[in-house]
Amino acid sequence: MRNDEARRCLLCKKPKCSLAGCPVGTPVPECMALYREDRLSEAGRLLFDNNPLSAITSQICDWKRFCYGHCVLNVKQIPVRWYEIEQEISAAYLKTVSLSRKAAPSGKRVAVVGSGPAGIVGAIKLFEAGFDPVVFSSDDRLGGVLRYGIPPFRLAKDLLAEYERLFAEAGIEFRGGEKISSAKELAASFHAVLVATGAEKPVRLGIPGEDSPSVVGALEFLRNPSDFDLGRKVIVIGGGNVAMDCCRTAARLGVETWVYYRKTYENMPANPFEVMEAQRDGVRIEVFKAPVEVRPEGVVFRDCENVTDSETGRIVTRIIEGTDSLVRCDSLIPAISERPDFSILEGLEGTSEWGWPEAGEDGRLGSSNVFLAGDIILGPSTVVEAVAGAKKAVEGICSL
Ligand SMILES: Cc1cc2nc3c(=O)[nH]c(=O)nc-3n(C[C@H](O)[C@H](O)[C@H](O)COP(=O)(O)OP(=O)(O)OC[C@H]3O[C@@H](n4cnc5c(N)ncnc54)[C@H](O)[C@@H]3O)c2cc1C
Repeated sequence: MRNDEARRCLLCKKPKCSLAGCPVGTPVPECMALYREDRLSEAGRLLFDNNPLSAITSQICDWKRFCYGHCVLNVKQIPVRWYEIEQEISAAYLKTVSLSRKAAPSGKRVAVVGSGPAGIVGAIKLFEAGFDPVVFSSDDRLGGVLRYGIPPFRLAKDLLAEYERLFAEAGIEFRGGEKISSAKELAASFHAVLVATGAEKPVRLGIPGEDSPSVVGALEFLRNPSDFDLGRKVIVIGGGNVAMDCCRTAARLGVETWVYYRKTYENMPANPFEVMEAQRDGVRIEVFKAPVEVRPEGVVFRDCENVTDSETGRIVTRIIEGTDSLVRCDSLIPAISERPDFSILEGLEGTSEWGWPEAGEDGRLGSSNVFLAGDIILGPSTVVEAVAGAKKAVEGICSL
């Protein structure tokens, strides 16, 4: 056995790591047993069949929230680092795998809009189910956030070349650089449409000065960090994964980097490991600070505090008036959140008055042939949840 960690796994009959801890129900004990017997290729096949992106999710999942956090050993001992073993198995297997049909080809074409995690998995599962997927992407190359958002120091980008190879070998048509404006129009000429366009619109801070030239969009920055001159000091606002990727990227460019967040460290939605890594990269973090104005010389912050809401009894964060202070900086990257662009769904049944889609369990909009998966329906979420959603959507398309 290459990794001694595998010996510690109890091979639970009802594995919480898989059943409660993993949105795609990764078959951990089965794969662990195969790994112990050095049957790596069989383990790789099990993992790929269940989650074609397991080589990626094993690198970037927030494992404390998922498998590791649910390991039964958590009660008295240190949980098993399954994700390390999954990385080893999946990365090797991905290089060898080819896609194959699991159902006879039906000749039915399905449009997949978006080539992020949900689009990639949707296309693979549709191909296996006998459909001919055609993948449209506004980006030139496949990957979505995996290619254009998550920095290379967190995710090995050569993995994406393997998915390009799989598509090419299977003859899956990839139409990069084609932005789709109406899923309804597309639905008229395809058997079904899977919309997986993610959540790419930045949520605005809503404060004066936000449109000044010193303010840089988080996703634009991550796409091409070296295109931006951040000056000597940059402030990143936010506490999620996007904020952590922005600050770590800026720090690695040699810029003095600060993160300002309006709540506590514990409230930060980012993977705690990423927060630690950011600090290791030299990023300094200030909590309980809310931005109220962007000025040419910097940003004005107001202090915040946690109080107990007298009606609900819950802890809420509130701004303390009269505590403004100017923090000087050369540039600012707001990274508080992103939201989906629903304009692509216009005219389709199943979208509520205010535009948020009301889709079924399988992501289907009303009784149409349009299905949604990934961040467009979940809001900013995770790769593994996008995979789970895409699998459900393909099941729905199969039952049309
Ligand atoms: C910086 C950053 C870091 C993250 N870090 C993590 C992490 O560590 N772990 C984790 O699990 N999750 C992380 N996430 C979240 C995760 O990446 C997303 O949940 C996931 O990528 C969603 O997948 P998706 O397929 O729905 O969308 P996306 O990955 O956003 O892909 C959307 C695709 O749609 C295409 N598109 C959009 N509009 C159109 C259109 N009109 N026509 C044609 N194509 C279109 C785009 O070109 C792209 O290919 C991170 C997100 C960001 C932004």
